[in-house]
Formats: sequence, C-alpha cells, structure tokens
Amino acid sequence: MPKTARRAAGVALLALAVAGAVAACEGQPVAAPAAGPVVMAIGDATSVPPPAEQPVQAQPQPQTQAQNVLITFPLTGSGQWMFTPGSDQVAGTQGRLMRYRIALETDIDGVGPAEFAKVIRTILGDPRGWTGGGEWRLQQVGPDDSADFTIYLATPASRDKLCGGTPDGYTSCRNGSNVVLNVARWANAVPNYGAPLALYRQYMVTHETGHRLGHGHELCPGAGKPAPVMEQQTLGLHGCVPNPWPYPNGREYSGPSGEYNDPIPEGTS
Ligand SMILES: [Zn+2]
Repeated sequence: MPKTARRAAGVALLALAVAGAVAACEGQPVAAPAAGPVVMAIGDATSVPPPAEQPVQAQPQPQTQAQNVLITFPLTGSGQWMFTPGSDQVAGTQGRLMRYRIALETDIDGVGPAEFAKVIRTILGDPRGWTGGGEWRLQQVGPDDSADFTIYLATPASRDKLCGGTPDGYTSCRNGSNVVLNVARWANAVPNYGAPLALYRQYMVTHETGHRLGHGHELCPGAGKPAPVMEQQTLGLHGCVPNPWPYPNGREYSGPSGEYNDPIPEGTS
C-alpha cells in the first residue's frame, strides 16, 4: 500500500513500556497475568520519530504466500504503527463485549491494512471461534476508541519488544493487552504444519486472542485428534492434526491443561 494511503488511514507511534509485563507466548511459559496496556500514545499522523536504537535493515526479507502476493518486511521494523479504522460489526450474539484495535507496522509491505482487518474480523467473528460459546462478543474499533486489546502485525524484532520475556523473533504472543502476530508467521506459517496458510493464520489469531480471553496452554488429547487451539501448534503438534477453532462443531473442544514449549526450529525465521 502506498505511503500516502497509509498516512491517510492514520499513522500512529507506539511507545513501549514492557517493564513488568509477562508474556504468554507459545515459546514461553505463562507465569502470571500480565501488566496493563502498554500502548502509551496513539493518534493520527503523529510526528514522534521512531526509536533511534533500532538498526536499519537494508535488505527486506522477501516472503511469499499462497496467493502469490509478496509480503516483505525488515527483521527489525521501525516501531511505527498504522491503526485501521473500526467497524460497526459485532461478532457474537451474547456475552461480554471485548473491543480490539488492529495495527500494522508500517514497514510491512504486501499486506493491505483494510484487507488484513477484514481477515481478522472474519476469523474472530467465525462461529467456530471464541464467540461460539456465547461467552464473548468481539468488535474491532478504531485507533481513538477505547479497547480491551490491540492486535499487532509486527516485524520479528518488534514482536520481541511487544511480547517482553525471552525474545525469539519467531513465535507470536499475547502480553497484557497486546495480541502480537509475527509477520514472519503470517507470511510463511511454520514448516510441516500440515494445513494451508489460511488455516495457520486462523490458528495464530485465535490462539493468541484466546490468551487474552484467559485461556492457558493445552495438550494434544490423543494421536490423530484435532489439536486444541490452545495447544502450541507453532512449535509442534505432538500427534494431533491442525485445528484453529475452540468450537469446531458447535461444542467447545479443548485438551488437558499443559504445555510443551518445544524449541524454535533452527534455520528458520
Ligand atoms: Zn500460547
């Protein structure tokens, strides 16, 4: 998307305040409820410069996705964010309303903000998702609206800043009110996942949002069975088959509490 269009949609800068926050990432154990929101300042077309300490990546990492749309991003982004406009749609028919913002790091090319927001709304609004149990309703709101959490599409280095905890540059995470989607996974999924990219994206959005809604990690309940969405599917399926939904057939599907914390695959990014 051209820079001008991005600015028209509003460019906002995120100020990080990760001290004291505890991450709930696939690569890390969930230790405790995280600290409050870390978004300190947002607004349209702020003139605050990006953090100076981040090295500039001269060569973006070309990545391809199934639709032959090239997604490119630096491994270390600027930390500047473009927040998408909100929507009047409310997913779900009953339960507590949770409002979320969507922000994309401005260095990411090949992901249209409006299209990305629509994909997120579709995933979070799917009746097989978190609204399927009648416990939650979900609505995407704009940058100036109050929100319960923010979904970030972040470069690997910004993922590490937003997530806190042990940096891995690989997984996605939830940290406080940050639901952080690593653009490297959005573009490439993971090796040998065994399902299309679109399904992996459904998984990563639903899994990290599940943390925000209070869910911890779960284990594969048996060989050949669907993986619970709260299983750490990015790092290994442990005999289960890919599944991105907590209500795949109208009934809640989960596994025993626990986590594997498998290592990050080597040679991948
Ligand atoms: Zn997790």
